[in-house]
Amino acid sequence: MKFLKNSTINRFSNLEIDYLKIVPSYYCSINCKYCYNRLLKQNSKDNPKALLNSLDEFINNQKTSFIAEIIGGEPLEENTLNTSKSLLNRLSRSHLCKKRILSTAVKDIRLLDSLIDYLDFVYLSMDIFNSTNNKKKLSLTKLLQLTNFINCNNVELSLTVILDGCEDEEDIKNFIFSLIHIGVKNICFGYVKFQHLNTTTLLNYYRLFYFLFFLKYSLTDKIFIGGNILETLDLAVQNITRKRICHCGETSVVLQPDGNVTPSLCQNYYSDNSYSLTEFSKSKMYRWNFLESNRCFNCSLWPFCRGGCMGASIHLYKNYLSPDIEFCSIISKVWEKIEIDMGIIKDYIRM
Ligand code: SF4
Ligand code: SF4
Repeated sequence: MKFLKNSTINRFSNLEIDYLKIVPSYYCSINCKYCYNRLLKQNSKDNPKALLNSLDEFINNQKTSFIAEIIGGEPLEENTLNTSKSLLNRLSRSHLCKKRILSTAVKDIRLLDSLIDYLDFVYLSMDIFNSTNNKKKLSLTKLLQLTNFINCNNVELSLTVILDGCEDEEDIKNFIFSLIHIGVKNICFGYVKFQHLNTTTLLNYYRLFYFLFFLKYSLTDKIFIGGNILETLDLAVQNITRKRICHCGETSVVLQPDGNVTPSLCQNYYSDNSYSLTEFSKSKMYRWNFLESNRCFNCSLWPFCRGGCMGASIHLYKNYLSPDIEFCSIISKVWEKIEIDMGIIKDYIRM
């Protein structure tokens, strides 16, 4: 499927954007084994001048307040740091930019210090599986230093952990209790996305997300435990219908490292940069209708799941009409078990 490219004139003007993602570069030297960005990087050329011009164009067009998130790649890499700084500097001068977020996996306080005055929020990425393959391991001492540094600067912190599938429940529980102890208030758990997962990994994910589902409710007054899987299950438990599958291309766009504007990060999977914001939204709507009357027709999770990420379907199955099959598998299996245990769960989460 192709999305035709928009003209560069008024690229933003028809959308009410409240969330802007900016990628200064896809480069990252951390080299996680599951990195989602390698493919994105292949189709991307850094052009800081064009990117900054795009941001100016965005700010000049924008009529309503918005949140901006600087992501990568790694925005704190040596060659990217200055671009990240210039972007944040421009954003801090816009009265409509209400929150500036930095997503990073870098643990170096000196690097963070050089940007901290511009920031309202840091999404810090770290992983907890025990392996030399874990490139984002962080000792508790280091995490404590970072948390103190970020808190002292009145910046909020949220951790992001990608579960590898080999963690066990005890590891996760101990980790979360340590976070509470050192004053972390938010953590999101994800899974390895944009990859085909084998049966063993999927079975492990069913177990771990089911466990996290309980933990989330038992610790609500101490820490927020989120992430797409848990938040979708929470919508189902509370019977809150999802109005759109995601914000990409509707109320959110991405400024790519070469200054292009795309509806979502995944759009950069196309080597010819072919996309259009309007067509992207139409495709999302068509996919919604298609799934609702086909694969998801009888699924009780449909009002909360909506078929998962279209980008993942395009990337993994080359078919935008496919559900996000890995997401579907994890969420439906965990939900199956939750439904069996619903009586206990209702008491547990004080519904
Ligand atoms: S930190 Fe992020 S961008 Fe860097 S290698 Fe890991 S997943 Fe990729
Ligand atoms: S869980 Fe699967 S079948 Fe159910 S709505 Fe989601 S994608 Fe469709």
